[in-house]
Amino acid sequence: MNDKYDLVVVGAGLFGLTVAEHAARQWGLRVAIVERRSHIGGNAYSEIDPDTGIEVHKYGAHLFHTSNERVWEYVNRFTEFTDYVHTVYTTVRGVVYPMPVNMGTINQFFSASMSPDEARALVAEQSAEVAPEDAERDFETKGISLVGRPLFEAFFKNYTAKQWQTDPKELSASIISRLPVRFTYNNRYFNDKYEGLPKDGYTAFMERMVESDLIDIYLDSDFFDPENPLGKSAVVGKIPVVYTGPVDRYFDYSEGDLSWRTVDFEREVADTGDFQGTSVMNYGDLDVPYTRIIEFRHFHPERDYQNEKTVIFKEFSRFAGHDDEPYYPINTPADRERLLAYRQAAKDEPQVFFGGRLGTYQYLDMHMAIASAMRMVNNELADVFEK
Ligand code: FAD
Ligand code: UDP
Repeated sequence: MNDKYDLVVVGAGLFGLTVAEHAARQWGLRVAIVERRSHIGGNAYSEIDPDTGIEVHKYGAHLFHTSNERVWEYVNRFTEFTDYVHTVYTTVRGVVYPMPVNMGTINQFFSASMSPDEARALVAEQSAEVAPEDAERDFETKGISLVGRPLFEAFFKNYTAKQWQTDPKELSASIISRLPVRFTYNNRYFNDKYEGLPKDGYTAFMERMVESDLIDIYLDSDFFDPENPLGKSAVVGKIPVVYTGPVDRYFDYSEGDLSWRTVDFEREVADTGDFQGTSVMNYGDLDVPYTRIIEFRHFHPERDYQNEKTVIFKEFSRFAGHDDEPYYPINTPADRERLLAYRQAAKDEPQVFFGGRLGTYQYLDMHMAIASAMRMVNNELADVFEK
């Protein structure tokens, strides 16, 4: 088996698929992709819901957006995108507001009709308790500095408590920085230049990435299975490996566990053509146990879905154990210390390259995972295969 391949890619998520596609096309390498699940696509995988015929994102809603020209050009080789533009609403104390925080949210929350200058002045007054030099310190200081305490407490504090079950002082400022705050009525969720959903679904798009005859995909195949002919004990040190699974698992948790959050989805089919009128409704209050409800039909208004039924997912977030899907790196100071130790150990692994969300313990959006895979191809892998 070993001499059949020039490169083993562990994980068929967008990082692994991008590496495999480039390696086959650019260098004519024979690539084996080893994937533990029974399908490709990693967390971006989607499938057709059997009861409604609606495309659902099995591991949570995935919206494609990027300002990276190279990434946009690259993904467009494999799929067309719809013109879907993402918007989100949030229910707080029985009232629905637009999210992220914008003039609509602010005026509705304060029952006011402020101008942008007036709203800025109010937020500046309500965020003055955080000194500018402390703003980047953690999630809470960043949040209060962005929107002031009353809005932070209504829209972020409880949602984040449900989502992370971690003191917001322990969470990184970068998590809340993902959301824009706007003093206009623009309520687009993302700021990126390009946005849309794969016209015929995520799975069709990702299948096209690895159509090459040079790429073989082994599903239901765990890299740590000692019997696996393409597993860790069989290939490391013999063939270059790109590993996109969890970095702590690779080293048998020798430096301790990196903490992750996972999400449980409660699927329901409702007997109506429209459950909530929009794709994503967040719930900012603690007495609602889930963080949000996704109604997938609204991602594709251009499709001719039936109107008798609709499928929704309620999302419940919790700490991940070893057997759970690791979704969001929590990244506490203790995690960061462990990560440094794992990075050190990774340097000593012979021709094993750690990448992707799990392999680098980083929150990466899809476009970031693709861009990061392209960087690995052009740097570390080029050093090996262009010699
Ligand atoms: P993954 O997709 O996680 O792929 C890793 C693969 O490795 C998996 O298929 C896994 O089964 C496999 N693997 C792990 N261990 C082993 C092993 N031992 N042996 C074999 N295979 C193994 N991004 C966006 O751009 N927009 C969004 O709206 C968005 N929403 C998200 C919502 C949720 C709930 C989550 C969790 C993520 C979201 N993302 C979103 C991020 C997106 O999912 C990632 O950018 C993308 O999955 C990264 O790809 P990856 O290849 O690094 O990791
Ligand atoms: N967030 C919040 N209230 C909301 C939406 C988001 O408190 O209504 C916080 C929450 O901590 C979340 C972070 O902002 O993790 C980033 O939001 P995003 O939608 O990017 O996160 P995701 O849904 O990917 O967790």
